[in-house]
Amino acid sequence: MKLWVTPEGDRWLCDECQPEFAEQIEKEEWRVAFEELDQTLRCSHCNHPDVDIPD
Ligand SMILES: [Zn+2]
Repeated sequence: MKLWVTPEGDRWLCDECQPEFAEQIEKEEWRVAFEELDQTLRCSHCNHPDVDIPD
């Protein structure tokens, strides 16, 4: 999960959602503050964790 610094504040985005924001990321010059591998983090867009936990 990457923490993005955006004009509206920091937000976590998973790799799956990142392409959906590619245009915004470029236009608004989002940047990655840091990347964290933590299963308890949730993507602010899809609300899923970074790593799929098998049933
Ligand atoms: Zn996501």
